[in-house]
Amino acid sequence: MEFFINVILPIPLQRLFTYKITQAESHFLQQGMRVVVPFGKSKLYTAIVFSIHNDAPIAYEAKDIYQILDEQPIITNKQLKHWQWMADYYLCTVGEVLRAALPSAFLLESETLIVQNNLFDEEMSLTDDEFLVFEALQHQPELKIKDIVDIVQKKHVVSLIQNLLKKGVVELKEALYQKYKPKLEKYVKLNPKFLDNGALNAFLNDLKNAPKQRALVLQFFVLNPKGEKPLLAKKLLEKAQSTTVVLKSLESKEFFEVFYEQIDRVIFNNELVKTKILSASQKSALIQIKESFKIQDVCLLHGVTSSGKTEIYVSLIQEALKQDKQVLFLLPEIALTTQLISRLKAYFGNILAVFHSKYSLNERVEVWQNLLEKSDKAKIIIGARSAVLLPFSNLGLIIVDEEHENSYKQFEPSPRYHARDAAIVLANIHKAKVVLGSATPSIESYYNAQNNKYGLVELSERFGEGTLPNIELIDLKEKYKKKRMNGFFSDTLLEEIKSALALNNQIILFQNRRGFAPIVTCTSCGVVPHCPNCDVSLTYHKLKNTLQCHYCGYFEPLETKCKACHNPTLTTQGFGTEQIVASLEELLPNVPIGRMDFDTTRGKYAYQKIINDFEQGDTKILVGTQMLTKGLDFSNVTLVGVLQADSMLNFPDFRAHERSFQLLQQVAGRSGRSASKGKVIIQTFNPYHQILKQVKAHAYFEMYNEQLNERYQHHYPPYLRMVKIILKHKNAATLFKASDWLGKSLQMTFKNDVLGPSDPPIPRIRNLYAKTFLLKFSKNQQLKISKAQLLKVKDSFLAIAEFRSVRFIIDVDNY
Ligand code: ADP
Ligand code: ZN
Repeated sequence: MEFFINVILPIPLQRLFTYKITQAESHFLQQGMRVVVPFGKSKLYTAIVFSIHNDAPIAYEAKDIYQILDEQPIITNKQLKHWQWMADYYLCTVGEVLRAALPSAFLLESETLIVQNNLFDEEMSLTDDEFLVFEALQHQPELKIKDIVDIVQKKHVVSLIQNLLKKGVVELKEALYQKYKPKLEKYVKLNPKFLDNGALNAFLNDLKNAPKQRALVLQFFVLNPKGEKPLLAKKLLEKAQSTTVVLKSLESKEFFEVFYEQIDRVIFNNELVKTKILSASQKSALIQIKESFKIQDVCLLHGVTSSGKTEIYVSLIQEALKQDKQVLFLLPEIALTTQLISRLKAYFGNILAVFHSKYSLNERVEVWQNLLEKSDKAKIIIGARSAVLLPFSNLGLIIVDEEHENSYKQFEPSPRYHARDAAIVLANIHKAKVVLGSATPSIESYYNAQNNKYGLVELSERFGEGTLPNIELIDLKEKYKKKRMNGFFSDTLLEEIKSALALNNQIILFQNRRGFAPIVTCTSCGVVPHCPNCDVSLTYHKLKNTLQCHYCGYFEPLETKCKACHNPTLTTQGFGTEQIVASLEELLPNVPIGRMDFDTTRGKYAYQKIINDFEQGDTKILVGTQMLTKGLDFSNVTLVGVLQADSMLNFPDFRAHERSFQLLQQVAGRSGRSASKGKVIIQTFNPYHQILKQVKAHAYFEMYNEQLNERYQHHYPPYLRMVKIILKHKNAATLFKASDWLGKSLQMTFKNDVLGPSDPPIPRIRNLYAKTFLLKFSKNQQLKISKAQLLKVKDSFLAIAEFRSVRFIIDVDNY
């Protein structure tokens, strides 16, 4: 009898591939283990065992596997079940899900580049083969697997590389990731022997002739009367107006102990912070959620901003832990939510692990392994969307915070999944419960709750004394007419800014455009400079004096003369965050201002620094794009200003109104989070716009009903399902032909359910032209059948030689 395995390869091919194994191997191998296999003429891949059987493939001769990499499966059965669902639902391959899920260290393949790890300096610990590779890397910057085969003169080297990775000798070159190392901050702690008053006094006495050191010691106790807590060194020095030299002397006298901690991992004295006692309405919400779980597996928690949803999650997490279950906490974006992570870390300490696609490979591998081993270090996983792909074995609860956020949806590359929806399926596989939380739920989720598919719990008051902020709409047309504008600021907004500053309060200003001015035009000939690679106009960035493309990154210096007519008559229209800061600096000299947008948060620690500066009151005004809306909690902010609300309302998308409501409510929600009443000023040319009126009235339900009605009228989800198809090609003529062919073919299959081909809002990006189609399937249509038909059309499309180089993208639930 012969023995075979079917494996999943991390490539976008629909089917599984069969390889030959020995009888002994067939006893050893299990589903979810990795094997190295040859593929094509000369490639090798790491593949995942899917099944073990005795049936030789019919169409081809099965090759032997090269090597088995694991003693235990590294992917669980539940995970594979989930991935299979993803592949079926989102019309991609399990291989693509595999590639998205596994840290690349698990998936060595012939194209992997292996580089030296500069931190490694213990050559003595290496075996002979390992040393050969180490030495080769001293002379060559990077090696591929086949180079290593030549170097050690052995055929199977994947385990060797794996060991080198484990020992920290080598790293994988990951062009995809900008490496992210969590930032370490210096903390000082009192040497415990000085907790004794006698010892402390004696020490102070000795410092009689060192007034600066004395002053620093005294300041330490001002900030920290009992002396027990560690302090951030930077903060201590700032408050004491002292220097690192002074601090160093106290360190060397062993008065202070120094340690470094990751800013989001600080646990004081290894003691966890006690969780808060829930208010009456929080308690009642908690009980309602638990009640709803008796009937439904998913519960939508609709709680206004600052209603204390996080504390409710914490109670639910504690209960899941008591039942010895794992918990997954999903966030829209890790980098933007460090505040929340620190809060949860302080409650749960080391049983909470952060999974971040930008963390180093080793850290991601560590979380994976801890989960597989059901280690105590991974009872709670907090992560962004890709965390739904981790190897959970015993999930009890999934929390999807800010469930309305569209960063839960992955658009590129495949798998194009929605993490909220994938989380609900994952929970189902584990028989776990799901809480979706938001102050502004997505229309789909609220609809599901209204139809009893989900439970629904409402929390309509802010926690404690807090009340929802007052929202005022300012009519820009009127203000311009009456000459009450000062640059981009109406007199009302400027007055409010000044009075907030006078009370030493803080201010957030929101403008959903970065850069200085979105459009540059020539007043003589009307020409607008465009990107050479994309069909969009360029944005002016003043600091660098460049024109930039926000789609492909192209930039050119801004010339003083128009390129078309050579007149020096270029002017700018519109405004972005950069220009707001510039004009604020003129209007309010000496007020420290921070800016948070894509441009200022690119460095490794940049984002954290902007938040810290604002948290500590070093900046008084924070100007930013929608990054500002993501769950930030600053207690001192009493005023939020929206410079111009109009452009987002006019965005060509069926969700534009819903999104504008969510965005504005969320920005507004940053105001008045502590006891003092908050204010929000929204400037607009359309103060009578329905959505703005609803924002002003905090009228979520009204907005929901109206939007739902529109969706019914115009045939959009949740009343039907949408699948988008995108064709891309660098040659416009080929694309035209291809989309014409596809349009006809789709129409034959789907009749009136097809819209398109149409031009996307930006018909060309990065030199690729695009055409789109929209398929709308009614809810009672058999989705599975329609999807199968669509895949058939795709196959016949790609069988046409001319179209083989056209990118064919399918995006299920493309919104
Ligand atoms: P949300 O997640 O709904 O926006 P948060 O959970 O951030 O609200 O709560 C808002 C603020 O109220 C936070 O500063 C939080 O510390 C505080 N808070 C919430 N619940 C309690 C409680 N039960 N006791 C004390 N403070 C609370
Ligand atoms: Zn461009």
